[in-house]
Amino acid sequence: MATSIVWFRRDLRLAENPAWSAGTATDRVCALFVIDPDLFDVVTPPRRSVLVAGLESLDRSLATLGGRLRVEVGKPVDVVSSVAKELGAGEVHINREVTPFGRRRDKGVAELVDLHRADGLYVHPPGSVSTDGGRAYQVFGPFFDKWSSLPMETVPQPGSAKILDHPGTGIPDPDLTVGSYGEVAAGERLESFVERVESYEQTRDRPDLDETSRLSVDLKYGFIGPKTILHSVGGGNSGSRAFIRQLAWRDFWAHLLAENPQMVSRPLRDKYASVPWRSDPESVRSWKQGRTGYPLVDAGMRQLLAEGWMHNRVRMVTASFLVKDLLIDWTVGERHFRRHLLDADVAQNAGNWQWVAGTGADAAPYFRVFNPVLQSQKFDPDGEYIRRWVPELGDLPASMIHEPWEVPPLDLAEHGVVLGDSYPDPIVDHAMARQRAIDAYRSVAG
Ligand code: FAD
Repeated sequence: MATSIVWFRRDLRLAENPAWSAGTATDRVCALFVIDPDLFDVVTPPRRSVLVAGLESLDRSLATLGGRLRVEVGKPVDVVSSVAKELGAGEVHINREVTPFGRRRDKGVAELVDLHRADGLYVHPPGSVSTDGGRAYQVFGPFFDKWSSLPMETVPQPGSAKILDHPGTGIPDPDLTVGSYGEVAAGERLESFVERVESYEQTRDRPDLDETSRLSVDLKYGFIGPKTILHSVGGGNSGSRAFIRQLAWRDFWAHLLAENPQMVSRPLRDKYASVPWRSDPESVRSWKQGRTGYPLVDAGMRQLLAEGWMHNRVRMVTASFLVKDLLIDWTVGERHFRRHLLDADVAQNAGNWQWVAGTGADAAPYFRVFNPVLQSQKFDPDGEYIRRWVPELGDLPASMIHEPWEVPPLDLAEHGVVLGDSYPDPIVDHAMARQRAIDAYRSVAG
């Protein structure tokens, strides 16, 4: 009787999962998840809890098919090989990952077991959308044209293997109760988004409306597959087409990371390795805590700490503030986001940080600097998002909330705000900082 193992990692689902389809095309299959304490013990409690919720959901789905998710704790290289030996499993199936860490780990495991790699995490697998010269695209536009023109590989249906029912050491208890996560919840989230996708183009930049799909956490853990999302969304109106374009960015950054593993910590464009970044721990602390005195920046940074989430527009504004207004190395912010975002993803995070910093592929030119006040007025016009996260400004009318330092102190006091006391003075002057950043970048850009 042939036995195989499907080793789940960032693909915690049974649908649109080519590794699961391959592994179940045999007699018996073990659905395995390995908790690596070096990773599990250091992530934030909310992130750990989302993972636990996803494992529970996967276990429930397997139980309806007569099996269980087997969870073991240890170094994957040891655990996978020892479970394979114990079961006499001939093959181990995985979906290929793109991070340097994941690739190293899988290489180690492949030395001990017969590892079969499938492509289940992206619409088009990294490496498949390439220039005529066979390289990854550096510019998103042509990447998107090619990406859109390629046929999507279909994923075979799962086979009928008997699913083993050994639960291993079991799923750990969650630290916290988080929202609904797992394959079923992701499907429901998608369904509810499809109902409002038509207006996505108009609403997507508005943190106060908060109407985007929120599927990034599901995609990070693989509670849902990107092709399932594409099929459901369709492409029949401008909203769905704008959404699909965003989804293609996810593939774009994965393609770039596959070709440039160093982009996690080094600029994709070499000359920016020597930008004269400042060292300013106190300002970095204010940024992390949401106490910069710029209301939209502070709202975003506080939401990140409280919820592990931030709207895309606010991610851009807060990231730009760190890199351009404070002139701090983008890797400092990349690490902070990577630690706290529930959807933290090495390729997406590093790619987007380099985009904002102007050091990466298809990046905004360095002299284009986000103005945190104009961004606030344009994308949170009534100040609703700010009021949600910066309650000490909650009583200010929209005309005052975006730049309270421009309001006479007596008027502020009428609304319970004393700058430098109940809310910080701005830690930097934007006009000065903008010029300082442009000069610093110009000194290396040539
Ligand atoms: P929607 O607007 O509904 O978009 C749908 C999907 O498209 C997203 O779930 C995501 O998979 C993809 N997408 C949208 N925008 C982008 C983008 N700019 N780049 C790549 N994919 C995109 N996204 C992450 O998933 N993980 C990260 O660690 C991450 N770090 C970021 C750091 C910075 C500084 C910035 C500016 C952006 C970052 N993003 C990251 C991209 C983006 O902010 C999130 O994907 C998006 O906000 C998730 O919300 P949503 O699912 O509601 O997005």
